[in-house]
Amino acid sequence: MNFKRFILSLIVIVLLITGCKIIWNRHLITVNAAAVSPVSDWEYEAVMKRDILCLMLAYPETITGVDKVSGNEVYVLLKSGKKILYDDRKEKNAWQKSGNPDLQDMMDQLYSLSKITEVLPNYYNPGCARVYPLLKEVYGMSKKSILSNLIKVSIGYKYVEFNGNNKAAESLKAVMKELLPLSRQSHKVYAASFPSSGAFNYRLIGGTNRLSSHAYGIAIDLNSNKYDYWRWSTREEGQKRLNAYPQEVSAIFEKYGFIWGGKWGNFDIMHYEYRPEIILKARYFSERPVSGIPWYDGLQSSQEAWEYIWLIEESL
Ligand SMILES: [Zn+2]
Repeated sequence: MNFKRFILSLIVIVLLITGCKIIWNRHLITVNAAAVSPVSDWEYEAVMKRDILCLMLAYPETITGVDKVSGNEVYVLLKSGKKILYDDRKEKNAWQKSGNPDLQDMMDQLYSLSKITEVLPNYYNPGCARVYPLLKEVYGMSKKSILSNLIKVSIGYKYVEFNGNNKAAESLKAVMKELLPLSRQSHKVYAASFPSSGAFNYRLIGGTNRLSSHAYGIAIDLNSNKYDYWRWSTREEGQKRLNAYPQEVSAIFEKYGFIWGGKWGNFDIMHYEYRPEIILKARYFSERPVSGIPWYDGLQSSQEAWEYIWLIEESL
């Protein structure tokens, strides 16, 4: 091999190695982008403000303000003097998120107000994560205090017990005022709704040590079907049940601040739960924030909302 050929071969080898390195790095970037959704600082901030606004509008008698401590720790302030951290910034998988969520985890998955045609993907359970310190503060710290907050709501043929705080029982009354006449006109609606499988029930969520939303008196199960719950059923059976389900029923509940377990990947089709913060976010902020446009754009503003927006802007 003469010297010229040797130099040429060397250049070719160096070029080949460099090319491979570039391709490999690109591959790594793609993998990372898929693993962690790229959220810029301004987008994170905009979503955080939206979440806090929805929480303030949903729990006006409990949440009194918001505070930023030492740079980036944001707390929601409660009437009792307690405060709840918005984001613990820990990496969590879907199960850790539902078992130990912070406010950011609770608000993260967007609930859809549209009619759905397919069972949602596994682990896509908007509203299924609950921040218990907030629930306790709003609906009762202990079984005894929850019991003292329950009031009776007529569901046509009988009364159920529901929590009187934060307009939960009042909202169920409003639902029934629309659902009862509709159920007299439509057999499908009647069959999906009645008899109810229960409202208040001081119990744990199956397979966990966490209290069910039924234990706070903020959830009602309508007529149950053996394919309603993901633990009893397959996704195929759940899909068939969903295909036949009259979604006029879920639309009425959503109008008054209830989420429907039929819109969870881990579905619970008979289950309705009063979660105004999740419905408000779905109603006002279903689109990602856009750079240069105020984060509260999309909100149908009321005097109350403007006061909260002002408070959030002042505090953060
Ligand atoms: Zn339920």
